[in-house]
Amino acid sequence: MKLARPETAPPADADRRKAIAPVICYPPETLPVPPMDLYRTARATATMVATVTAPAREAAAIEVPAGSFLRIQSVDGPQVGDLNLFNLHDRTERFFSGKTRALHGTHVSTGDRLWSNLPFMRPMATVTHDSLDWYGFDAFGGSVHDVIGTRCDPYTGRLLSGDDYHHCCHSNLTRALSDAAQIPLAEAEMQVHDVLNVFMCTGFTRDTGQYFMKASPVRPGDAIEFFAEIDLLAVLSACPGGDCSAEHSSDTAACHPLLMEVYTPAKGALSGWQSPPVNAYDRSHGRG
Ligand SMILES: [Zn+2]
Repeated sequence: MKLARPETAPPADADRRKAIAPVICYPPETLPVPPMDLYRTARATATMVATVTAPAREAAAIEVPAGSFLRIQSVDGPQVGDLNLFNLHDRTERFFSGKTRALHGTHVSTGDRLWSNLPFMRPMATVTHDSLDWYGFDAFGGSVHDVIGTRCDPYTGRLLSGDDYHHCCHSNLTRALSDAAQIPLAEAEMQVHDVLNVFMCTGFTRDTGQYFMKASPVRPGDAIEFFAEIDLLAVLSACPGGDCSAEHSSDTAACHPLLMEVYTPAKGALSGWQSPPVNAYDRSHGRG
């Protein structure tokens, strides 16, 4: 946060410096364009092949083969979810919320991609449907499905409140990944990463730039869908914050489950499509 009363006097040309118009850091025009028409046509032929429910204040994992669709749906009541994505065969490749944010903005919707970490940096998934796309940005600068938050976790909770709470998304994801990958809890914890906050309505306050949340507009039946660009392990936590209208990191909020479903298109529906290769940068970093 910036000092309410800065300690440094502004230079004579401060207003002129501040008036310089911003430029977009990463104009997305040169990114490969996802074949949305192909995805839509394929989705129309798809049938459900797997389903799992993340219970309230718990997480669940599901495998999503490349070329399939992952649907995350609100059931029973307004609820936000924290999503981790891994390369099913190599979990050192995982979702990179920071670069996804840099490329697509603070909140994602249809046509945006979820990118993997360096050095892989390729699209892991593409958003193909978002029933909350009507929300856009509200008067507070808030929007839905953010890549600006991290995940609620017991360490921050401990710092802020002095309590130990065991059903933060970080812990829920850790337990679910430990079970799904059959690895010890401590190993799983190190693989849990910053999330896509599914259905969560968030932004930064205009005056202080602080991360805020507000009651999610999600209602039962709302859904977001992703096309899996590579074989994925998806792990989703039904956040203890419920709709995140008041607080998280406690058992106070009303919480609901979240449904995950995998849909596989009919044979031939994706003809011509190929799973993207890992990033082509040669990794020499200027040496050799
Ligand atoms: Zn959470």
